[in-house]
Amino acid sequence: MTALPNDGRGQLYNFFLATESPPIGPTVPELVNNEDELKNVIKSAREGKKIVRVVGSAHSIGPAIGDTVLTPNERLIRLGGELRSFTVLSEQGDTKIVKVGGGCYLGKNPLDMDSTWANSVNVQLANINCAIPILGGITQQSIAGFTMTGSAGGSVAHGFEDIIKEIHFIDGKGQSQVAERGTDLFNAVGVSLGLFGVITYMVLEVKTPSFNVGGVEKTVSVAESVLAVNKNTGTSKLQETLENTEYFRLMWFPQKYAQKVTEWSGKRSESTKIEPYKDVVGNPWVAGAAAMALRTMHWLLTHVPGEDTYKFIGDTLKIFVKEKPTPFNDVWYKTIPMDDQAPTDTIFKTEFTELWFPMEETENVLNILKKLYEDQQVAGNYACELYAGKRSPFWMSPAYNRNVFRFDPFWFYHQGVEGKGVREYYNHFWKALMKVDGVRLHWGKYLPYSGGTYGGVEYGAAFLKKSYPKMDDWLALRAKYDPDQIYVTEYWRKLFGIETISAQE
Ligand SMILES: Cc1cc2nc3c(=O)[nH]c(=O)nc-3n(C[C@H](O)[C@H](O)[C@H](O)COP(=O)(O)OP(=O)(O)OC[C@H]3O[C@@H](n4cnc5c(N)ncnc54)[C@H](O)[C@@H]3O)c2cc1C
Repeated sequence: MTALPNDGRGQLYNFFLATESPPIGPTVPELVNNEDELKNVIKSAREGKKIVRVVGSAHSIGPAIGDTVLTPNERLIRLGGELRSFTVLSEQGDTKIVKVGGGCYLGKNPLDMDSTWANSVNVQLANINCAIPILGGITQQSIAGFTMTGSAGGSVAHGFEDIIKEIHFIDGKGQSQVAERGTDLFNAVGVSLGLFGVITYMVLEVKTPSFNVGGVEKTVSVAESVLAVNKNTGTSKLQETLENTEYFRLMWFPQKYAQKVTEWSGKRSESTKIEPYKDVVGNPWVAGAAAMALRTMHWLLTHVPGEDTYKFIGDTLKIFVKEKPTPFNDVWYKTIPMDDQAPTDTIFKTEFTELWFPMEETENVLNILKKLYEDQQVAGNYACELYAGKRSPFWMSPAYNRNVFRFDPFWFYHQGVEGKGVREYYNHFWKALMKVDGVRLHWGKYLPYSGGTYGGVEYGAAFLKKSYPKMDDWLALRAKYDPDQIYVTEYWRKLFGIETISAQE
């Protein structure tokens, strides 16, 4: 088996494309259908001194999931059967308690043949007239994978964590554990990257009735957008918009000759008139054309930099953004995830790094970015996403204890050879932004190298301990629930400074 570069996302999810008889290899996860089967896997892994890792929809970068490709000493599993089930436990007034298997996808995972809209969390909730208050831009993630990385949607009004009542997991000794809301264990395990154990079920407390979300998407020039600086106040309207719009996200095309902003804003709506949200790249022909354009622009940018190329990039990008404001109004799970229709795993595969800042740093970060984007190599050929996130009780959530402003620059996967260039590109942002007070990064996306220095700041365990005030408590609880370190990969060991057992003795 040839080892693939242990970086980026993609190396792990090709197994979804396999048929019923997937090729045998270290990247093919074992299917585990219930807690008893899982306990057997854990028992034999302990006996064989192997590591156990779980994959959801493999939407995170490879090493965040497992060291599989490089470490044959690992058992990679995925959850099926009962561990994807959906059960209504009780109902009182406007509240329903439901128990969902950790492997259940929020929406439909197009790469998994067993995944349908009908067996998704979202549709099963809507069928009982309930709703999740907020979702990310896409919904093909498993509920456990989404939660484990602290993933979030664009809102300070609603958090995904708000509905989580209990987290059930099998710890490193093979014992069943239940973490209940309000406890230290809950706050620790809520974002734990598979390092406390395997999340088998999540108990959700959801509200009825379901609701629609209505709003508008429009593309305007930067000068007309919420990024424009008001001459009187000297600031933009970005922070105010993030804090006061129920659901909001912005895509910024910062190139010299593009200077466009696509603003998507929504709120819960009483209207029952359905106006579906339509993503431009939801049309495969448009997505294909945009993909080819991105490759061409990237080639020009790297081989023929100069005004002609920058002009071409600006003009090309303008073709693909919808200028006309387009209203939408539809059920929550069809509108909040505005990127669900885009083929983000295939022709439009995009890579991400995402920096989360305390909300009050919004204007400062925006000013740094405006300066950075004057360099057309940094402005690039794609877009970046700006959005918000609600404060989280989970100790290792990048939104722990504060509302956040999030910045996510995009890199088009198919423009380089096997991810080549992506880290060089992200270095521009890491170097400029790692010094901003309180910065944290999305765990499921590209992270700076552990031990690397970015703009004078060393990224690694010491940096994280400063950023996450509860990290020591988290590590201590982790060690208690997984004393033999059967869930610890080298990637997470290095980042969190988890000593090997022999080093502790
Ligand atoms: C196109 C795209 C759009 C995205 N949009 C957003 C967004 O809007 N907001 C946002 O915050 N993020 C977003 N993300 C990031 C994404 O939400 C995270 O990467 C998320 O973790 C993916 O969930 P998953 O099911 O694929 O989990 P995986 O990537 O498979 O796993 C993530 C982590 O959770 C662990 N894990 C998975 N299942 C279990 C389990 N049952 N028990 C224990 N550990 C487990 C894995 O080992 C790994 O450490 C996006 C990613 C992509 C590719």
